Amino acid sequence: MDLLFLSQIGFLVGSVAFIWGLKLLSSPDTARRGNVIAATGMAAAILSILIEPMERGAGNYPWIISGLALGAGLGLLMAYRVKMTGMPQMVSILNGLGGASAVVIAIVELNHYYHGTRPMTDSQIIIPLLALLIGSIAFTGSILAWWKLEEWIKDNALTLPKHNIFNIALLAMLLGLVVWLYLQGSSAGMAWALVFMGLALLYGFSFVIPIGGADMPVVISLLNSFSGLSAAAAGLIYASNFMLVGGILVGASGTILTLLMCKAMNRSLLNVLVGGFGGSSGGAAKGQKGDLVVREVSLNDAAIQLLYSQSVVFVPGYGLAVAQAQKVVKEVDDILEKNGVDVKYAIHPVAGRMPGHMNVLLAEADVPYPKLLDLEEANAFIANADVAVIVGANDVVNPAAENDPSSPIYGMPVLQVWNAKHVIVLKRSMRSGYAGIENMLFFHPRNRMLFGDAKDTLSKLVAELKSL
Ligand code: NDP
Repeated sequence: MDLLFLSQIGFLVGSVAFIWGLKLLSSPDTARRGNVIAATGMAAAILSILIEPMERGAGNYPWIISGLALGAGLGLLMAYRVKMTGMPQMVSILNGLGGASAVVIAIVELNHYYHGTRPMTDSQIIIPLLALLIGSIAFTGSILAWWKLEEWIKDNALTLPKHNIFNIALLAMLLGLVVWLYLQGSSAGMAWALVFMGLALLYGFSFVIPIGGADMPVVISLLNSFSGLSAAAAGLIYASNFMLVGGILVGASGTILTLLMCKAMNRSLLNVLVGGFGGSSGGAAKGQKGDLVVREVSLNDAAIQLLYSQSVVFVPGYGLAVAQAQKVVKEVDDILEKNGVDVKYAIHPVAGRMPGHMNVLLAEADVPYPKLLDLEEANAFIANADVAVIVGANDVVNPAAENDPSSPIYGMPVLQVWNAKHVIVLKRSMRSGYAGIENMLFFHPRNRMLFGDAKDTLSKLVAELKSL
């Protein structure tokens, strides 16, 4: 059989597997299978692309195999070593590498074009230029997002005065350059393509600089969609339907996720990009505020309160991921359910450090999906709940979003845990959450703090509950 025909079949299998895998990823029950199917599709596509140089006699196999071994080795190492709390950073790195690949492809092809070694009509040059622009933004933007998530760089550390004006001017310059390079055709020369790439790399970095705090989920999903779009543009350069399908799937799903995240934050995308909202302010709350004091609860009292409730809602946040407390939460849930308590989980769309973070963790602990309530359902449930137990969440239960117009998160929908009859907050200290803002919930008359590592505290709570 013609080898090229075989490789086309492989690409078709890969494309179908991507679409099927993505469909299965939409539910936690089938997500694992979806991931395996999509990965198998990627393997089929890699094998297919390996056939092509054989057929064309290019003979670059030592280079290709070395690159493949290096990339696969690094990928495996990262996947083995990454902790659950490091997943968002890993997603950012992978988004960045997707963008970087598109940049490399575009630069190589533009080099051929300007040196007359790749036949491309002058109108076709727009495709590598777009791949270069979007890929560069995805690359440096994702690298900065990774550093911010690692907290190696503070949210506002690099912001210049009038930073947004600088960004708008830079973006206008880039768009102008695209038009100019397109009109110049091959007479522009490679040096200008490199200047264009340098400015696009700078823009990627610069556009993420003023975004931080509670806005990070939006920018991460936006960069994810950029990496997909740059891959789709690279697919157009090589007329590869497979790259086009893969890129469009990532680009479209990233765009949908970005819009959902904006909705969850009650903000427009433009507002996120130029608003500079979510930066640190305020800081950690102290133990006392005027007449308001922070009250603690003992493990024994907390256990009694939970066991004699009719309904309890757990609110997981980033601290649950840090403590890896998902399995022990489920243990508490099982004991309470056995005693006739109605237990639910309130999931805020931006809880944790990546979209869907809490759903993934709770699915790992075998929490049945129907127990997970989204924001609106959760707030209705909380209003009648006896106890709301906050497990390492902070920003997503901050009442300042509703009652403090000066707060950087004002307007963001939050879980209204203060409407429950009792609130218990599990965290280690009075420190603030990701957005770096004070949380007056801790001073609420109905709130009690249970200080300590969430997993540790919950394990002790299990022992208390069993002893009652
Ligand atoms: P937060 O970051 O607001 O708060 C987490 C809390 O967990 C901290 O206050 C911390 O307090 C506590 N904590 C940390 N470790 C432990 C531990 N071992 N045991 C118990 N508690 C612990 O988390 P939320 O989930 O409420 O909010 C998410 C924030 O992250 C939002 O601002 C969101 O915008 C942002 N973000 C979300 C992304 C997403 O896609 N979901 C992406 C990037 C950012 P203490 O130190 O006192 O223990």
